[in-house]
Amino acid sequence: MSALRYLRPRVLGEALDALGQDGDTRVVAGGTDLLVASRHGKVTLGTLVDVTAIPELRVLREDGDGTLRIGAATTHAAVAESPLVHRRAPLLAQASSWVGSVQVRNLATLGGNTANASVAADTLPALAALRAHFAVSGPRGERRLSVGEFFQGPGQTVLAADEILVAILIPRQTPHGASFLKIGRRRAAAISRLSAAVMANPETGLARIAVGAVFPRPQRLLEAEEVVHRGFGDPQLEEAGRAVEEVVRQASGGRASMAYKLPVVRALVVRALREARDAFLAERGKGQQ
Ligand SMILES: Cc1cc2nc3c(=O)[nH]c(=O)nc-3n(C[C@H](O)[C@H](O)[C@H](O)COP(=O)(O)OP(=O)(O)OC[C@H]3O[C@@H](n4cnc5c(N)ncnc54)[C@H](O)[C@@H]3O)c2cc1C
Repeated sequence: MSALRYLRPRVLGEALDALGQDGDTRVVAGGTDLLVASRHGKVTLGTLVDVTAIPELRVLREDGDGTLRIGAATTHAAVAESPLVHRRAPLLAQASSWVGSVQVRNLATLGGNTANASVAADTLPALAALRAHFAVSGPRGERRLSVGEFFQGPGQTVLAADEILVAILIPRQTPHGASFLKIGRRRAAAISRLSAAVMANPETGLARIAVGAVFPRPQRLLEAEEVVHRGFGDPQLEEAGRAVEEVVRQASGGRASMAYKLPVVRALVVRALREARDAFLAERGKGQQ
């Protein structure tokens, strides 16, 4: 067996050159998914290219057009604690704060969560609701992909082996309240069994709804959003919950775990919608005092 090689380039071009060299070369950031997969024999590691020292992957700033740019190697702890993310994308700050434990969040990155593309990854429904884009660099140049283009299925993205996810881009959002809720087997360090990511503004009719650990890849629930566009009263929120349940039922093809999941997903979405609506109203109330 050949020895593991470890590189930590400080320049994006050097990392891309290293990736182009042989098939066993892998990008690593926090290593919290990759090293676990390697221990379970699911991946073979030859050369590891650690991308956490590359400046473009460490930025966390607002671009001139209001886009929130989060370097792929930004840790969940940094995302969850950033005042900028709290202001511009509170849903993502909440989702990152739910990942694993303090130790995991200090190492694990937003880019790793995204590139790993687990159906249970906490930030993916939040990124779908926020209509995020992904900035990718490779030997053939740069590309910018939407959620629908980037994620292909469970554990699959369009990233080629010689490409690097550089940043997650979140377009400017209109004012809204946000709520991310998750159900795991335990409160701490649990992989989601279900999650709901919701944004709401009852004044403009904005409603974005995504659920995690249900679909093969992150997606918004447009049917349920339509229901809420018509009104944010409790009856409409209950109706939206039923619409989500119906979409999940159809997508599940009668899997056994669904007997538990269907009523829970409905209740979780309704609760998240209420929380997001009430968070918006509370914030607006503060502004008027
Ligand atoms: C104890 C424990 C608890 C956990 N709890 C949760 C949880 O509650 N919620 C949750 O969502 N996840 C959880 N995870 C999973 C994991 O921590 C996250 O998915 C994390 O965000 C992965 O980030 P990372 O930087 O560690 O990725 P890595 O392990 O470094 O990489 C993961 C994958 O992405 C690729 N990759 C990483 N960065 C890039 C990049 N910039 N460009 C291209 N490819 C890249 C790697 O090659 C690898 O295939 C948990 C893991 C552990 C060990």
